[in-house]
Amino acid sequence: MTTWNEVLRTIVPGLPALLIGAIACVGASGCAGMRATQQNDAGTAQRNVILLIGDGLGASAITMARNYHLGAGGRLHLDDLPHSGFCTTYSVREDDPTKPQYVTDSAASATAIATGRKTSNHRVSTAAKTGEPLPTILELARDAGFRTGLVTDASLADATPAAFASHINYRWCHGPRMMSACPAFSTIFGGPGSIVEQMVAARVDVLFGGGEGSFEQTIPAGEHAGRSALQVAKAAGYRVLRDGRGLSELTPGQPVLGVFAEENMTPRWAASLASFPPPGAPVRCREASRPSREPTLVEMFDSALRLLAADASGTPGFFLMAEAALIDKRAHAADACGQIGDTIELDAVVARARAFAYANPGTLVIVVGDHDHTPQIVDPDFARVNPGITTTLETADGVPMTIAYATSTFTFKQQHTGAQLPIAAYGAGAAAVAGRMDHTDVFALMAATLRIGAQP
Ligand SMILES: [Zn+2]
Repeated sequence: MTTWNEVLRTIVPGLPALLIGAIACVGASGCAGMRATQQNDAGTAQRNVILLIGDGLGASAITMARNYHLGAGGRLHLDDLPHSGFCTTYSVREDDPTKPQYVTDSAASATAIATGRKTSNHRVSTAAKTGEPLPTILELARDAGFRTGLVTDASLADATPAAFASHINYRWCHGPRMMSACPAFSTIFGGPGSIVEQMVAARVDVLFGGGEGSFEQTIPAGEHAGRSALQVAKAAGYRVLRDGRGLSELTPGQPVLGVFAEENMTPRWAASLASFPPPGAPVRCREASRPSREPTLVEMFDSALRLLAADASGTPGFFLMAEAALIDKRAHAADACGQIGDTIELDAVVARARAFAYANPGTLVIVVGDHDHTPQIVDPDFARVNPGITTTLETADGVPMTIAYATSTFTFKQQHTGAQLPIAAYGAGAAAVAGRMDHTDVFALMAATLRIGAQP
């Protein structure tokens, strides 16, 4: 029987024929110099992967954002990506990895995308049960000479970015002072250290996000004892940036670590928390008040893309992962406006990525969530009998949209769910995104597009 991965390998070598040049350039930036293909030293076209992850980006999250922002008949940039399908997300059980865990967490799902291997919840790019470190697409790309970048509006130590540049048994071991659940990895016992220590050691070229608090913790033992991960990064040649207003002034040629918030960054839109009984009249979302040093996800993405593309000359290309993490974090808090604002922010990034891929054939753009989440669009007439908590927004259509959150009690945070997710793609190899896929197939497609690594 022909496996999915064998199908990919036969599709990808023929990629140039699959490029969709006739599709109009989208977005304000990136259209100038269209089709100016990047070249590497060998004179061949560069190969780039831009992976965009919406944390908790399920079909409900996408539909909520479209209804609210554009109206039910509107089209997000995400809607206009030419290749799409569905993606399963299940993780596996720690005690028996041959059995599925139907509801994944962000660590196991990011591991599946980053490594092509399923693991158990809370593990970061380590195998269930055995703890074996699993090579990631970022590491394979880096070792093959590609430039690499990670961007998130959560902490850089959060599960999704962590799974691309670190290996640990428990996702919350963010910093050197948070290692109680990961003793074997602590430098005290000769291990490689916490997530932020490993991330700095991984020599990622561009790191933008929050998590300053973890990067400032003092390393207790080993060769970097007495210093913080930020200090280690500086000593290793990184430019360290703590204010997003400096993003546009960064110049290529030096690795950069930008930490712009103590932990997670501020959502674009202020909270509209669901309640029981349902709140009164429908509301419109309001801009949040953001600390001036915090850049938007779009600003971080634009800067990362500019730096990686400029520095990629003479290399095979680059790998860039950007994550809209607050879709998930605000869904846990039953905050529809917070969720929608981050989804709209991700959609703006999609437009920019697609414009870059149009101008630079050989670039694959993939947009996918890591797991489904709580919100359901329900009939406002029945909000009073909904067993969960609800909020009602006035959409771009001028009508009410009621969102229900009902995966936990009112007093505990809302939970992930196990449905398959939409996945969409554009550019080199994108035609392989079709039908029902799995997160592990995303790894295989990225590796095949970059022509690197141990494809499973
Ligand atoms: Zn979550």
